[in-house]
Amino acid sequence: MSDPRRHIPGTDSVLAEPRIAAATRTLGRPLVKAAIAEAQRRARKGEIAPEDVVDTVVGHLPERACGLRPVINATGVLVHTNLGRAPLSDAARDAVTAAAGCTDVEFDLAEGRRARRGRGALAALAEAVPDAGAVHVVNNNAAALLLCALVLARGREIVISRGELVEIGDGFRIPDLLASTGARLREVGTTNRTYARDYTEAIGPDTAFLLKVHASNFHIGGFTAAADVAELAALGPPVVVDIGSGLLAPHPLLPHEPDAATALRAGAALVTASGDKLLGGPQAGLLVGDAGLVERLRRHPAARALRVDKLTLAALEATLRGPEPPVRTALAADDTTVRERATRLAERLRAEGVPAEVLRTEAAVGGGGAPGVTLPSTAVALPARYGPLLRTGAVPVVGRLEHGRCLLDLRTVRAEEERSVLEAVLAAQRSRTGGGSGESTAGGDDHGSERPCR
Ligand SMILES: *Cc1c(COP(=O)(O)O)cnc(C)c1O
Repeated sequence: MSDPRRHIPGTDSVLAEPRIAAATRTLGRPLVKAAIAEAQRRARKGEIAPEDVVDTVVGHLPERACGLRPVINATGVLVHTNLGRAPLSDAARDAVTAAAGCTDVEFDLAEGRRARRGRGALAALAEAVPDAGAVHVVNNNAAALLLCALVLARGREIVISRGELVEIGDGFRIPDLLASTGARLREVGTTNRTYARDYTEAIGPDTAFLLKVHASNFHIGGFTAAADVAELAALGPPVVVDIGSGLLAPHPLLPHEPDAATALRAGAALVTASGDKLLGGPQAGLLVGDAGLVERLRRHPAARALRVDKLTLAALEATLRGPEPPVRTALAADDTTVRERATRLAERLRAEGVPAEVLRTEAAVGGGGAPGVTLPSTAVALPARYGPLLRTGAVPVVGRLEHGRCLLDLRTVRAEEERSVLEAVLAAQRSRTGGGSGESTAGGDDHGSERPCR
């Protein structure tokens, strides 16, 4: 009997197969060759027949040359840090694609000469925050704070309340970030109560600025006091306000969430914020405020190391100028509509034999925004074993585990994703691998309530 291993097709002959050649053009040779090597290995071990090598390679080729996969967020956490925070609007995605090649990010096509980098995004931000004398965009909010501390406070003091020494997530502590620049932190007040007079007593010739940091992922109740921006602005030194969430103007549903316009009108010299939280755009750090200070930050050599790329500028501009981004749609979604969508989805699943129930839930903003705020929502509740199956399906759907069930919260599922969720659940039902335990592990890296189905 001949050894079947002799008939295992060689790499070159597999690469020459039309289906494999087509895949090589979209994926590149290394990924395809890795899939071929794996199929050959399995054939040598007798796990697959030699004549099945090509089919096995085709079946195991990655979808794209990048391992990141699109995921449907059914966690009910609007801004989920583990899932890439804000999903971009279609307009922003389109802008990213358009800017992906060569683009006029730093070039004036009419004049044929160099132009201000990202002027479109900067103009959009300036228009969105009319109270700001100038605006600048850096890599993220942490970078914005870093730049403020480095340029304005190196070797000097930043006065900050003990109640605002915040750890955001994954061990990221704002005080450590500030101190890393060579600025000294002058802590004032107590954890629960800090008054304007505490700042006054700390202000001296070494004071660079007063910093207010939004307690974006926790809530202190009981006997509390904090000095507001207007009180601090009256004390003399510039006031820098880290609002975190990126609301540029007040939002009616989030009355306790700080926003850039209100902080500037109250006298803040600079406001820093994230682009990928409630703003609903790409990861970015927004810096808005006093023109002279913004210019100093922008001109500092370190600003170059924190600058954003053309893709970010494209997505940011489209987020600011284009249609409502998904995070804002999910935030504003009408409770009744969400409930109707969940009811419809559960009915269709039950008609296919899936034990789906409708459950009233509470969605959360998450990702460092509106701590303690819950939004009425509705989920399709499935047995816990669906959690791992949905996560590992062709289109991964991440729900959240609650009361031993896998909840798919419809508030964070975009209407155009509903069909994919339906198909994913039906595929999970059909799959024979069943029986994941669905046990819970603490979720997101930072914002407590983020607990995806594991
Ligand atoms: C999220 C957050 C940050 C960090 O923002 P990144 O954009 O992730 O760097 C800083 N401060 C506050 C108050 C936040 O909520």
